[in-house]
Formats: sequence, C-alpha cells, structure tokens
Amino acid sequence: MRVLITGGTRGIGLATALDCAARGWPLALGYRGNAGAAGAALDGVGAAGGKAHAFAADVADPAQVAALFDQAERALGGLDGVVVNAGIVAPVMPLADMTPERLDRMVRVNLTGALYQAREAARRLPEGGAIVFVSSVAARLGSAGSYVDYAASKGGVDTLTIGLAKELAPRRIRVNGVRPGIIDTDIHADGGEPDRVARVGASLPLGRAGTAAEVAAAITWLLSDRASYASGAILDIAGAR
Ligand code: NAP
Repeated sequence: MRVLITGGTRGIGLATALDCAARGWPLALGYRGNAGAAGAALDGVGAAGGKAHAFAADVADPAQVAALFDQAERALGGLDGVVVNAGIVAPVMPLADMTPERLDRMVRVNLTGALYQAREAARRLPEGGAIVFVSSVAARLGSAGSYVDYAASKGGVDTLTIGLAKELAPRRIRVNGVRPGIIDTDIHADGGEPDRVARVGASLPLGRAGTAAEVAAAITWLLSDRASYASGAILDIAGAR
C-alpha cells in the first residue's frame, strides 16, 4: 500500500510512518517547515527498512496540498492510502479571549486543511483505497476552558469522516477516523503546555497518557485490508477518557 501521511515527520504521523514501513509500505511524508525533523524521520524510516520521501506543504493552502499530492504520486507511482494527520493546537484560554487570527488559523489548518486533503484524496485514490483522519477526543469532550476552537475543528473532521465514507463507498474507498486522547508528542509544548502529558497523564482513567505508537497501530489497521469492512468508523484511542 502506497501511503501519504501529512504531518508524517513528527509525533503520531512519524509513528504511523514507522508502523507502515515495518509492513513494507512505501511512504510520502508531508510536513510544514521543520526540515531537520523531516530528515530525521527519513533516517528513521530507512533504519526500519522502509522507503520514504518528504515534502514540505502547508495543509492550509490548497495549491500546496495539490502539489503535495502530485509529488507523492510521482514519487510512489500512485497512492492507495492517505492519513490526514497534520494539525495544531494553540495556548489554553477561554474562547472569549481568543483572537480572530487564532480562530481563523485553527480552523484553516485543522478543518479546511483536512477538507483540502480529503478533496485531493477523493480525486485520486483508486478502488480499494483508504483514508484515515486523525481527529481528537476533544471533538467529543469540547475542551471547555482550554481550546474549544481546536475541539470544534476536530468535530468538523468527524463529520467529514462520516460524510466522505458514504460518498466514496460506491467507489469502494474506505474512510475512517481515530480520536486520540492525550498522547506524548511535541504538540503540547508547541501549544504552550510542555508539562501537559506529565501533569494530566496520571489523572486519566488508564493512569497515563498514550504513546504515538499506540495511535499509529490503530491508523495502520484502518488503512489495511484487515479493516476491509470498516468504513465511517471513528475509533477512540483515548484510554477510556
Ligand atoms: P506534532 O508532534 O506536533 O507533529 C505535527 C506534525 O504536523 C509535524 O510533522 C508538522 O510539521 C505537521 N504540521 C503542523 N502544521 C502543519 C501545517 N499547517 N501544514 C502541514 N503540516 C503541518 O503533532 P501530533 O501530536 O503528532 O498530532 C498529530 C495529529 O494528532 C494532529 O491532528 C493532532 O490534532 C492530533 N491529536 C494529537 C493529540 C496529542 O495529544 N498529541 C491528541 C489528539 C489528537 P513540522 O514538523 O514541519 O512543523
């Protein structure tokens, strides 16, 4: 299976890349601008015996998303799977204090960006193809007082998953989502909360935060033929949260 993973160079995307590489699947990894992390990701995939290419593209820009899919198709000779994973958070605060610029960026990256990626995937994937959206358990919880903008953007991703699964089912393309809980990646520090995993982890139902590899295992399963009758599913990987 030839797979494009956006945000594939760090965190959950990178763990998914390593899991795909272990299955011998050739990969294209999208990222926004951290070329150092992209280089390290390619080294990691290579060390795992896999083959990957990395391309910079801001998912909030439709022209860059189209170019990313073009580059991935050229590099891999086509695409069979797409993981719509790139996403951001922003500093914790009540909605009343959020600027219009923040709200606009949150929705443009997490939701409009997902729509751009989904549109390209819908245009290009063949019969038997699969799309996996990386949402968040925040879509179900609402993230009151922390980031309702992020939660709302992911709620949109869940609705997109349900609708696109039905829209692409006649073409035998499966569409599913995962909703991670609190997962140990850079995203928390980038959102201004470097201690979030340690601070909140112990209070979670399973007594700890999750790992990126634990989310990746679900994504890889949903991509694979082993999930051949799963479509329109949204799988919580959130430790009973
Ligand atoms: P991460 O470690 O911060 O990695 C983010 C990745 O996305 C990087 O490769 C980054 O590229 C890329 N990216 C960010 N903004 C982008 C943009 N505008 N265009 C293209 N690429 C962009 O994040 P993560 O924690 O693995 O999160 C991955 C997904 O899981 C996100 O959708 C997030 O909302 C979701 N999620 C995470 C958690 C969690 O606790 N970690 C929980 C629930 C859901 P650069 O390296 O170039 O910046």
